[in-house]
Order: sequence, then C-alpha cells, then structure tokens
Amino acid sequence: MHSPVGEYLQQILSECAADDGAVADYIPELAAADPDHLAVALCTPDGTLYSAGDAERRFTIQSISKPFAYALALRDHGIDAVLEKVGVELSGDAFNEISLEERTGRPENPMINIGAITTHTLVGPADLDEDARTSRVIEGLGAFAGRELTVDEDVFASEMSEVWRNLALASLVRANGIISGSPEEAVRGYTRQCAALVDVRDLAVMGMTLARGGTNPLTGEQVVPEEVARQVLSVMTSCGMYDAAGDWLSAVGIPAKSGVAGGILGALPGQVGAGTFSPRLDRFGNSVRGVRVFERLSRDMNLHLMRIP
Ligand code: GLN
Repeated sequence: MHSPVGEYLQQILSECAADDGAVADYIPELAAADPDHLAVALCTPDGTLYSAGDAERRFTIQSISKPFAYALALRDHGIDAVLEKVGVELSGDAFNEISLEERTGRPENPMINIGAITTHTLVGPADLDEDARTSRVIEGLGAFAGRELTVDEDVFASEMSEVWRNLALASLVRANGIISGSPEEAVRGYTRQCAALVDVRDLAVMGMTLARGGTNPLTGEQVVPEEVARQVLSVMTSCGMYDAAGDWLSAVGIPAKSGVAGGILGALPGQVGAGTFSPRLDRFGNSVRGVRVFERLSRDMNLHLMRIP
C-alpha cells in the first residue's frame, strides 16, 4: 500500500478535499449518501492498481454504466445498426432532457438518459425477455470490471418510486418507433443497470479495459472488439461529461463518464484507467471533488489526449 504512487494519490486527495456542491436528491436513497467519502484509483495497462481514500466504499454506478451498455449493444449488433437508433451528437441539454433529433426521432447520443434507455434495449437479441436482458447487461458490466457485480436493491427501488421522467422519455422513443418493447420494461432494466454496485478500483479496471481496446487487464478477456472500444471512447470524449464536456476536454483531456452517485470514470487510450468517488455534484451533475482530482492527475502526469508528443 505504501507505494510512491499511493502516497501521491493520498496527497492529491488531501489537496482536493474542499467540497462544495450537493448530493443528488431526486433519487431519495442517494440523498441519504454520506457526502464526505472521497476515493481515487488508477489502473495501468498491465493491470496494476493504485488507490487512496475510501477505495473499498461501494456506490451505484448510475450513468457510468451508459458507455458500457453502449459497448455491449455495439458488440451485439454492430456500429451501423446501433447508429440507426441512437446518434453521437452532443445534445447541449441536461442529462434527463427530451433530446431527440428532429429528422430521425432518434436520441442525440447514448450518454443522456433517453439515449441510454434506448441503448439498454439494444443489448442482446431483440426477443430477449426483460430479466435475461438485464442480466446480460449486469454480467457485461462485470466482464469490464473483472468481477461479478451485484445490484443495490434499495437504490433500485428508490429510483423506481420516482421514475416518471425516465418513463416519459422511454414512452417517447417507443412512440417514435425507436424501441419496440414496453417502455416500463426498458426503464426497469435501465434503472437496475444504474443500480449496479462498484468501487473506484472497479471503475479504474473498466476504464483500462476500454483504454486497452476492449481486453480486461485482470482477466485477459476480450470483452468487446477494438473498434467498439474506439467508438465508445469517442462518444465519451464528446458527450461523457454532459454540458461540461468542453471544459473537461480542455482542462482534463481524458475520455470520461460521470454518474449521479458521485463516481467519475476516465480512460486514456493505452495509458490509464481511473476512477474517483465523491458524492457532492456541481450544477452539471458531475462530482465536484472528482473533477478536481482528475484535473490534478491530468496536469501532474500530462495525461491529456492533446498532449504534444
Ligand atoms: N439513474 C440515473 C437517472 O436515470 C442516472 C443519471 C446519472 O447518473 N446522471 O436519472
């Protein structure tokens, strides 16, 4: 544990400790989260893990599941077929907005809720039943993390008790003929996907799996083909941090995805997978201290997509 990298990570955490922002409160169970948790983990291409802070603390993956469900849909149906249903353009709207392309009626991208609910239904064969599809998604997330993941049933139930907005979004894509099954099933499956439990080390491994072109550094499993990993990293770069995507790309420069429980996952191709956890969010829905930790990592180690070689 007392490696120089571990000490460096600990140092960053203490320097990024000041916390403003507020925990997400639109999901009752998340409002009850302890806002003080703070953790970071890094994974190198050979699978070496470094971490500091509350690295064992588990939290729900929430929107960080979106790029991975997208990866599974791409693997199962190919990039072109998925593009017919979900675009790859920045929406410029909040994550739970009705962001549909006027001409096609398809969601703007897979990182906002309306696109992610659609993407969930695209994992596995079209005739899969709800439970089988949800299991396929959760097992797929686990293949990225290198271990079997479980679902936080309390967070799931809590989000389902207030799920009206996502249900409305699912009904719209059903009305547009973008999804074919029932909106209720799509939303239940998607909400379960969001309630999978992870820690920062899982996020770092999941990020590294994408950053290595789809092969998990711990298990050696090729979870998705390289072209799928590239597609997912591209969409994370443009849409992963919602409306803060431009700031994030210039200041941090690491393809990333955030979730409302307070996690952020980063994946820099060929170099590093990273995860942070701190529940208080900024107005875009991104973890305040997580963003700060990523800014430090990027600056200190020159981890930036646009690094001049
Ligand atoms: N489950 C959450 C929702 O659908 C995920 C949102 C997020 O993490 N930004 O609202």
